[in-house]
Amino acid sequence: MATATAITPSTLCEKYHLTIEQLSAGTHVVLNGTQHCVIVESASVPGQEYKIIWNSEYKVLQCTAHNGEACKASANGKQCYHKRVALAVIELEKAQSIRERQQEQAEVESTKEYQFEQAIQEFWQASQTFEQLTAEFNQIIQEANEREKSRRDAQRLKLPLNGNKGFSLLR
Ligand SMILES: [Zn+2]
Repeated sequence: MATATAITPSTLCEKYHLTIEQLSAGTHVVLNGTQHCVIVESASVPGQEYKIIWNSEYKVLQCTAHNGEACKASANGKQCYHKRVALAVIELEKAQSIRERQQEQAEVESTKEYQFEQAIQEFWQASQTFEQLTAEFNQIIQEANEREKSRRDAQRLKLPLNGNKGFSLLR
């Protein structure tokens, strides 16, 4: 993953011994919706394009003619830089798609983190409210208890008088 993020056009140019101009001449295309290939514009012949294909039978890259003639090197059975362009184009594309996926993942993660923070914030506020309500409730209970106590105290002071009266009646 770390190596994928480090891939840039310049690191690929270094790896495949290409210039930026050579690399930028290559484009990954899908012909007829199925055939993946890299079209490389000729550096020497304007309008001439080469088509780099993967020969799955021989498991080799082939530089073939797309517009105009085939490149001189491959026509003579030699390796050409167009194949290296194709490799670099594909590797760059792969690195970019990995980067995009990582970016999407990072966005998802940051959204999750945000949601979590929001939830914590709400919970904190709710517990603050709960604490406040508990304090208010305790206040009410305490006041009620105090009222009850003073009512009982007042009653207790009267009771002996009533009791005395009762006893006096029985006597
Ligand atoms: Zn070629």
